[in-house]
Amino acid sequence: MNHTQLPSYISSENIGPWRIFLHQVEQVAPLLEPALQPWVETLRRPKRSLIVDVPIRLDNGEIAHFEGYRVHHNTSRGPGKGGIRYHQDVTLSEVMALSGWMTIKNAVVNVPFGGAKGGIRVDPRQLSQSELERMTRRYTSEISSMIGPDKDIPAPDMNTNAQTMAWMMDTYSMGEGRTVTGVVTGKPLALGGSLGRSDATGRGVFVTAREAARRLNMVIEGSRVAVQGFGNVGEASARMFAQAGARIIAIQDVGGTVYNPAGIDIAALKAHRMATGGLLGAPGCETLANEDFWALSCDFLVPAALESQINRHNAGLVAARVIVEGANGPTTPEAEAILADRGVTVVPDVLANAGGVTVSYFEWVQDFSSFFWSEEEINARLDRIMTEAFDAIWRLAAERGMSLRSAAFVIGCSRVLEARATRGLYP
Ligand code: NAD
Repeated sequence: MNHTQLPSYISSENIGPWRIFLHQVEQVAPLLEPALQPWVETLRRPKRSLIVDVPIRLDNGEIAHFEGYRVHHNTSRGPGKGGIRYHQDVTLSEVMALSGWMTIKNAVVNVPFGGAKGGIRVDPRQLSQSELERMTRRYTSEISSMIGPDKDIPAPDMNTNAQTMAWMMDTYSMGEGRTVTGVVTGKPLALGGSLGRSDATGRGVFVTAREAARRLNMVIEGSRVAVQGFGNVGEASARMFAQAGARIIAIQDVGGTVYNPAGIDIAALKAHRMATGGLLGAPGCETLANEDFWALSCDFLVPAALESQINRHNAGLVAARVIVEGANGPTTPEAEAILADRGVTVVPDVLANAGGVTVSYFEWVQDFSSFFWSEEEINARLDRIMTEAFDAIWRLAAERGMSLRSAAFVIGCSRVLEARATRGLYP
């Protein structure tokens, strides 16, 4: 797509993630089967959105209020599924967009879920562990009418983890009067979690990078990789690339950017962060100005932090051959047009980071059947699903001369809307 073809609203400075999602749907709507056209409007309208007040007593005795959200974007193909984010910038618009991307993602990897997402506008770094627990429990209680193992199944996202899921599972179970492990995924292993879940998103990022490399005649071994974000997704992605012989030349997190052209030792960086609380000053690494991160000459760039990180201000600087979107929505439409003009391949979020929800699906199935699989089995099944999804998207993109994102949206939207059309309209 040519940069100049973007609609005028895209050119405004900050259109927000929900407008970006709508734009992505708009791009593919005319390409869908005529029988599905009348149903496209359902994708533009989240099925239900809940805004909740989450009051908690702080450790100092005062009461604080936080705003929480849970959105079911679409449940045509099954119960809602999507993570819970704790971040100071969470808004309803952001949660709507993230839930929309979950709808498409779950359809792209063909797991029987709709799209959902939740979050609380809070800076979790300001809360103690017990305050976090009270907030999580009150939030879970406030959204309990929307969640359930066959209704909507939350999972971790930014600043939430297995412990958060354990508190959610316990709170929901107390309300039900029985232990309901299947209400959340990404739980600790001791509570019905799945082997392989914590690395699953990073593993999926790596599998899609490997598949892209194969088709672009690139070799992972010896390739240079830059990663933004060193949390669940960024750390596991970096580790998978390094294990395959790639050199991780730079990593950026909220505290700054570290750089080592010879390759960062991921285990040593993790240990350094554990000891100091940050990445800067890690052995063998120099500190790079944050704005220089995007211009680094590399083979793979993995944004694995927040939305809209690659935008019109820095897209022209990107010197990577392939961007693999570990984060949701890291590339704005304006940036994507610039990157396309410059021949950068973008493996879109709805494919690249779908490994997490794929293993969440395995976890949910294991909880229902109370029968647990080996890690080898989980990793092999994950690899197969991601490889097949990648292949279908790559072939469609090549056949119809479209971007990988548009191809992923055509496949995802078609599956959702086929379910919607076949179910028909109630009443
Ligand atoms: P996380 O909280 O574990 O890690 C987030 C990382 O991003 C941290 O290293 C943090 O320092 C960094 N970060 C935050 N703000 C930053 C900034 N302004 N600049 C640079 N770095 C910054 O979160 P996560 O679970 O790894 O999620 C990261 C992204 O991946 C999000 O977009 C999330 O929606 C997406 N995602 C997560 C999963 C999952 O299974 N956890 C699955 C699919 C997609």
